[in-house]
Amino acid sequence: MKMNEEQLSLMRNLVSSIKEKSPFYREKYADIDTDGIVDQASFETLPFTDKGDLRDAYPLGIMAVPESEIVRIHSSSGTTGTPVVIPYTRRDVEDWATMFERCYRMAGITREDRIQITPGYGLWTAGIGFQAGAERLGAMAVPMGPGNTEKQLKMMQDLRTTVLCSTSSYALLLAESIERQGLKEHIHLKKGIIGSERWGAKMRRRITEELGIELYDIYGLTEIYGPGIGISCGCGTGMHVWEDFLYFEVIDPVTLRPVPDGEVGELVITTLRKEGAPLIRYRTHDLTRIIPGQCACGNRFSRIDVITGRTDDMIKVKGVNMFPAQFEEVLAAVPGASSEYQIRIEHVDGKDSLTLLFESAEPAERYPEIEAQVAARFKQVVGPAIIARAVPLQELPRSEKNTARVVDMRFR
Ligand code: ZN
Repeated sequence: MKMNEEQLSLMRNLVSSIKEKSPFYREKYADIDTDGIVDQASFETLPFTDKGDLRDAYPLGIMAVPESEIVRIHSSSGTTGTPVVIPYTRRDVEDWATMFERCYRMAGITREDRIQITPGYGLWTAGIGFQAGAERLGAMAVPMGPGNTEKQLKMMQDLRTTVLCSTSSYALLLAESIERQGLKEHIHLKKGIIGSERWGAKMRRRITEELGIELYDIYGLTEIYGPGIGISCGCGTGMHVWEDFLYFEVIDPVTLRPVPDGEVGELVITTLRKEGAPLIRYRTHDLTRIIPGQCACGNRFSRIDVITGRTDDMIKVKGVNMFPAQFEEVLAAVPGASSEYQIRIEHVDGKDSLTLLFESAEPAERYPEIEAQVAARFKQVVGPAIIARAVPLQELPRSEKNTARVVDMRFR
């Protein structure tokens, strides 16, 4: 995304002082003349920062202010060993709440609302971010934390909760419990703020229908404040992101070069105002794209698409990087093709061959026509030639996990 004037000026301030403030970047940028980083092109020559760097800096090596200025720390889950600790100054905590309040406002939530918060509290950034934003807005926060579904439902009824904050899977679980227990008429929910993760259109429809609420995707990660750095608006065309605090880039995860706006790649974020632990070109490993143009809602902030996966989901065939989301886009655009699919990759006669199996509700005699349309559209949108094959509904295995959709037989 093109840096605007405000971002350019904030970026120059950040980069020119980073070696002085941060021992971490002093070492990382030891061979870099940061005074030469004056525009977007030179900024794009700076090396990326990755989660591994932050792990190596454990516990407080990333800190860029005197310790007395730190008012709180958060930590991201250490599923693979050493956790990452992120220190926050008072201003960082306030900035985060400011961004989060904006998210609530974007979703049309006001001080009259009662917000039930089911993400976890503690070292993790989720719960407390939802809480601080709600308090700053002036709404009533109901800080439940995760689990204990019966108690969640009781509070939801007795306190007449109007907004549910949760993951998509927990929202679905609550929706199903409400349905099963026949509680629908005692529930006053109007909106759901759902942590942006990869979740299907079907699941979204079920939650919307069973709870009768509007859903908003909220985005964030612990290394960059936490949830609340972007949210979808009523148009449902991607998430607006707070560019006055952060700079967003989308790169090709293999070549590491920025991709043109509109193309899918890995989201990279630079914190423009963060004091405690500023990060420059931080790789999120989340796949998305920058949505070009202005949103119909009129909001001036740019948009990224809802997260379509992780870089770990990426497949490379015939030298082209592909993402499950691209296959989904193609299938969604062809009438007669359903959204269930499987990708099979083989190595035949010294060449990679990709077969896209997809379900169709149409009669079998129409398959050849639909297959031709899918293959043609894929070639047009993504590039490589593929074999498209339709199968009847319910033929393909069902899984919430994306990786199960890809069967790569090249390495067997
Ligand atoms: Zn909008």
